[in-house]
Parts: sequence; structure tokens; C-alpha cells
Amino acid sequence: MSFEALGLHASIVKAVFQAGYEKPTPVQEQAVPAAIAGRDLLVSSQTGSGKTAAFMLPSLHKFADAEPAPAGRTPAQDAQAARARGERVRFKAAQPKMLVLTPTRELALQVTTATEQYTAHMRRIRAVSILGGMPYPKQMQLLAKNPEILVATPGRLIDHMESGKIDFSQLEILVLDEADRMLDMGFIEDIEKIVAATPETRQTMLFSATLDGVVGNMARRITKNPQVIQIMSATNRHENIVQKVHFVDDLSHKNRLLDHLLRDETMDQAVVFTATKRDADMIADRLNIAGFAAAALHGDMHQGARNRTLDSMRRGQVRVLVATDVAARGIDVPSITHVVNYDLPKFPEDYVHRIGRTGRAGRNGTAVSLVNHAESMNVRRIERFTKQTIPVDVVEGFEPKRSAAPRSGARPGWKPGDGRGGKPGQRSFHKPAGEGYRGGAQPGGQREGGYRSEAAPRSEGGYQGQRREGGYRSEAAPRTDGGYQGQRREGGFRSEGAPRRERSGGFGAHPRSADSARRTFGDR
Ligand code: AMP
Repeated sequence: MSFEALGLHASIVKAVFQAGYEKPTPVQEQAVPAAIAGRDLLVSSQTGSGKTAAFMLPSLHKFADAEPAPAGRTPAQDAQAARARGERVRFKAAQPKMLVLTPTRELALQVTTATEQYTAHMRRIRAVSILGGMPYPKQMQLLAKNPEILVATPGRLIDHMESGKIDFSQLEILVLDEADRMLDMGFIEDIEKIVAATPETRQTMLFSATLDGVVGNMARRITKNPQVIQIMSATNRHENIVQKVHFVDDLSHKNRLLDHLLRDETMDQAVVFTATKRDADMIADRLNIAGFAAAALHGDMHQGARNRTLDSMRRGQVRVLVATDVAARGIDVPSITHVVNYDLPKFPEDYVHRIGRTGRAGRNGTAVSLVNHAESMNVRRIERFTKQTIPVDVVEGFEPKRSAAPRSGARPGWKPGDGRGGKPGQRSFHKPAGEGYRGGAQPGGQREGGYRSEAAPRSEGGYQGQRREGGYRSEAAPRTDGGYQGQRREGGFRSEGAPRRERSGGFGAHPRSADSARRTFGDR
């Protein structure tokens, strides 16, 4: 199937060829014709599958086909003329035709950049990002141009809606990108509010890794007779990514192994995931001292700094990005060959998103998880979620002193999802896959202590004395609110995680801590 055969406007076909796309991906093949026909869509596919073009190309097609607007002035030009006449000017609300909601700023910027590529041969179509962390005057300037397409994170968009800067009465298309993630981040009320402000006549397209549970309920509420598209491509199953677990005895072992892995000749660029922003900073510093071109990426950094870091990664100036989950979401750098989970993620879904940073655009990748012996149960949870076994590997010279706890790969007859394989007396997680991982799905939203990657008392070397304990974890604090509410992160009150509680001893002494605590509430 070709892009022409999808029925797209010639100017769009020309732009996608220039972008280097030869043929549509499976999600594009299914979504584009349905969306051109005006259908609402519920699409289960992940980043890396070409989903941005799947919703953006048919939307642009619709705009390209529309009658040219009567020649007129933009609100900004109207305002200028009124000022010239000496009149008092009131800001005229922007009236976008399309809104794309994304969970993170990085993803929003990526969608806007892709849209600019796809509109290279179209006139009159402007896409702008409305994001937390961006200065308000700059956003007012963007809105004054009355862009056709807004790509926004929910928190900041609500601010502009409430102050009358955006009017959705002319909205034709609403897209919720990575909807599961937005709900997971506590944006459900904001999304409901935004959807309620849009016309009933809109076309709605929802993209999500899963269409089950809370996401599925919301999806059905906000769409009309949707076409459901489920894509399970090789990329979704991550067949192009070699996954491994390395067991480590302690932090010093983990750090030595990390250094070794990053010296692998097959490594072009890597993302190392940490549980906290503070660890991301510390590990990036340590790797730089060790001679790696490393940089941190996390939600305490201003948007400008985050963008500069990602640009340096794309240009190859940064080889190792040390990142937290939220900040890394949406990173699309095809030359990333390795993902290292320095800490295991909070939720199995995050594991899938993390490893998806490598093996992009049809390439192969390697994803390595450095796992303490006490965490083997968390590896099993990931295996149950992905329905894949992750082999345990041992690097010569870095063998763990303790042998690995019995787990899926080590126990004959165990299959991911059968709930067996734990040590006697260990809690069993015998639940259907997909249940029980999110805060909202567990009674009280609590995650148990055993899931904390570094919860055991620490007596080893490495970062001893500087690591998180209890409230010191900025991203991994247990959820106590039953799930999706009050957890707004990116673009909200806090960029990542629950409010930080000072821990006693050591925390205040770190030069970055006071700064990052001050920045914590400045994200909106
Ligand atoms: P996405 O899933 O939208 O994050 O896209 C993942 C990557 O695939 C991006 O780098 C896109 O530019 C690229 N991409 C999207 N569609 C195609 C296509 N049809 N052919 C080749 N690459 C594509």
C-alpha cells in the first residue's frame, strides 16, 4: 500500500516522501482511510509505530480539502489596526480547528515538529505547542496568530481556556495522544473539562497503549461509534529489542556494571533510566567524570534546558542520557542503541515505554535492566505484563555473588502470567495481566514496599548516604490517593511525582536539593 492509495492530498504525499517515509506503517494503513472518512478512532498502538502521522495526515487532508478561508486579517493584525486607530484592544481568543492533547511537553514538541514536516507544502496551516514551562507572553503571541492546530499538555491548556484565550467552538478534530499515560498522570479531570468545551460535532481520535480499564471507559464516553484499531506490530512486541536482566549485589556492583555496559562497542547512544531526578543528576555527573559524554534529563529542568539536551543527543554530542520516566517519554532519537534500567520502573507499562526508546525506525536495540536480588518479583511483574520472559545474563568479571532468586527464566515450567515462580512465602501476584499495576487498580492505590527498587537498607559503596529513603524519592513515592487524581505531573503543579518531603540528614546538604525543591512548584 502506498501513501497515494490512502487517498491523501498530493501536497501531503509529497511532504511524507520528503520526510523519508516510503510506505505507510500498519497503523497508518488502517487509521488514515477511516479518519478521512470521518470516523472516530480508538487506536491501541505505541510510540514508534508511526501514530503521529496516523492522526495528523488525515486531519491535514481534511484542512487541505477545505474551501480557502475568506481573505481576512488574523486577530493579531486586527489588534494592530485597532491600536493604530487608538482603540483599546482586547485579546481575541484563538479558535483552533484541531487540538492534540499529549501527556508531556517532549511529546507535544515532537508532534508539532512532525506536523511542520507534513505541512511543508500546505499554506495556511500553522501548528503551535502550548506547554507548561513555556513563558506566558510567548504563548500569547502564538495564540494571537490564531493557529489551526494546537498541540498541548492539559494543565497549561486549561489555564488559557480559563482566562478566555482559547475558544473551541470551531474545533473539528480532537486527538488524545498516549491517553493511558495522561490518565496515569492524573489529568482525567482536565481532559473531561477540555472535552466538555469542544463541540459535540467534533471528530475524536484516541491513541493509547491499552484500551482497557479506565482509558477504555473514557474512550467510549468521548467517541461516537468509533472504529477500533489494535496494532500489534513487531515493534509493539519489541521483537527487535534484545532484553536482558543483570543481577547486582549492591550499588557499587551496579555502578561498575553500568560503566562496563556503556563501554560496549556496539553502543552508539544510550538512555539510562533512574527512579529519581536527583539520581539522574548524580549519575550523569559521575559518568561525565568517568569520561562519558553524559547529560541528565528530568522534570526539574526548564523546558529550554530539556530541549537543548535532546538536541545535543540528536546531534550525537551526548552519548548517554540519564533520564527519569516522564522526561524521557516521547524521545525519538533513532541512534539510541541501548536502554539501561539503572532502577526498575514503578509500573510495568513504563518498562515498555522505556525500552521503546531504542529499536526505533526499524532498527535493533538492546535493553538491559540492572536488578537487585530483592527485586526479582518486579521483573516477574514486567514479564507478566509484556507476556515475555526476560533472560538473565551474566557478564564475565561482573558475576553477582549471590545466585539469582528463582524466577521465570530459572524455573522450569514457569510461564509469564502463571503467577508461580516466587519463593515460598513470597506474595503472589496472581492477577490477570494488566491488573494491579497502576495505583488506581490496587486497593488504596498503594504500591508495596517490595516494589521500591532500592528499599533494602544500604550498606554498600557507590552513592551511599546520598540516596533516597522514604520521602526522598521524588518520582517513586507511593500513591496514596487511589489512583489518577491529584497526581498531576508534567505541565501541572509538579512535573514528576508526589510532593517531596525533606528527609532528615543529608538531603539539605546536597547543593542541588534546595534549587530543585524551589523549582518543584514552578512547572506550570
Ligand atoms: P511515532 O510513532 O509517531 O512516534 O513515529 C515514530 C517514528 O517513525 C518517527 O521518527 C516518525 O518520523 C517515523 N515514521 C512515521 N511514519 C513512518 C513511515 N510511514 N515510514 C517511515 N518512518 C515513519
